[in-house]
Amino acid sequence: MSWNFSTDPEFEAKLAWMRDFVKEEVYPLETLPLDYKQFREIIKPLQDQVREQGLWAAHLGPDHGGQGYGQVKLGLMHEILGASELAPPVFGVHAPDTGNSELIAIGGTEEQKERYMEPLLANEIWSAYSMTEQGTGSDPTQFTTSAVLDGDEWVVNGTKFCVGNADRSDIHILMCVTDPDADRHSRASMLIIPTDVPGIETREIALMSDPEGKGVLHTHCEVIYTDVRVPKDALLGERGKGFELAQKRLGPGRIHHCMRWIGVSRRAFDMLCERAVSKSVHGGLLSDKQMIQQWVADSIAAIESMRLLTLNAAWKIDQVGASNARQEIAMIKYAGAPAMHDVLDRAIQIHGALGFSGDMPLEHMYRWARASRLYDGPDEVHKVAVAKRILRGYEPHDLPSEHVPTRRAAALEKYAEQLERLGVLHVA
Ligand SMILES: Cc1cc2nc3c(=O)[nH]c(=O)nc-3n(C[C@H](O)[C@H](O)[C@H](O)COP(=O)(O)OP(=O)(O)OC[C@H]3O[C@@H](n4cnc5c(N)ncnc54)[C@H](O)[C@@H]3O)c2cc1C
Repeated sequence: MSWNFSTDPEFEAKLAWMRDFVKEEVYPLETLPLDYKQFREIIKPLQDQVREQGLWAAHLGPDHGGQGYGQVKLGLMHEILGASELAPPVFGVHAPDTGNSELIAIGGTEEQKERYMEPLLANEIWSAYSMTEQGTGSDPTQFTTSAVLDGDEWVVNGTKFCVGNADRSDIHILMCVTDPDADRHSRASMLIIPTDVPGIETREIALMSDPEGKGVLHTHCEVIYTDVRVPKDALLGERGKGFELAQKRLGPGRIHHCMRWIGVSRRAFDMLCERAVSKSVHGGLLSDKQMIQQWVADSIAAIESMRLLTLNAAWKIDQVGASNARQEIAMIKYAGAPAMHDVLDRAIQIHGALGFSGDMPLEHMYRWARASRLYDGPDEVHKVAVAKRILRGYEPHDLPSEHVPTRRAAALEKYAEQLERLGVLHVA
């Protein structure tokens, strides 16, 4: 096993280009009152520049038309893109289209790839991932949305909750129960539902991050499917293997989420430090106050820890695949989300009322960051999974295996001869 914490110079040059490009071209867009259609239009020339650099839709492997960077390099790219909520669509790696195109790449037929994946990658169509039902996100085996075969068609009925872009997308990838009598992990399948079929109703939900539901990038919706009919070949992947397919999507996706959170944290950290060296109170700069120095020290340690943990998980995926890196992937979720929260919180605090106001980007970043402890499975679920996995490796002992008197008795026996020779006869 070798360890290498450096990036090859050729790729580092691409990252440097991305850093400048995001700062110069994307950050200014954050300040403009664009709706999502205007936004999609204004970024087209920027998307062309990204394509020219060979950095467009970099999430897919070479067998699916991507560059095959692997998760470590993709992670480093997402760290840069995460700094601005508006950057991922400029690079063709915005959720949920990335995950959805990956799903079709992994599980789709050639016809599905041509019909949906290619246009998704070209940014010609938009998609939604329709899985959660209210109160069941932590335990998807409780889903009730069903698809029943009627001749050559699936008939879908049910309600989903908090589905990103459900009202703006051309297709939904829907998780639904197709085999209610199978064991609880084999009941669900995925279907690709074009949104122009009759029977789909969406209700936009205001979120903490977007209380007015303007959603330049995302809206979130409740979606009601009533007798929605799609052809039998709308099935994505194998019947009854919906959860398995979902797992394949989540591993690499989580690396990208966490690296984006590091980008958010780093940007907030820069604001924190800039303010610290700019503002004087009670006769001295904030940067001279020990409490502020502690925030700086704690924040950078948290960011660097989160970064190493996440890159290690990415490295492990690259080495042994996502299913063998489950523990690492789960850990970054619940370690990363609170770390980002705390850095943002300190950055707001040091700016006082200005930080809490819309005159700084921090309050929006903070509201959006709160969701990170929920989406992709709440932190608690990942903690439980990691703890269970770890605890499986331990045996019960009546007396702790480190119990000193018991170990001493064993050691006395083991070294009896030498102890006698050395004259160590009485050990208390
Ligand atoms: C911004 C945002 C975007 C989203 N986008 C999408 C999307 O595009 N498509 C989609 O399908 N869904 C989406 N979701 C939904 C998301 O996936 C779910 O919110 C998440 O999986 C949790 O499910 P739930 O909301 O039903 O919570 P519940 O399952 O009701 O869980 C509620 C709480 O119970 C606690 N809990 C659960 N299990 C345990 C346990 N084992 N031990 C201890 N405590 C536990 C946790 O605190 C948890 O937060 C989005 C959510 C947000 C916030």
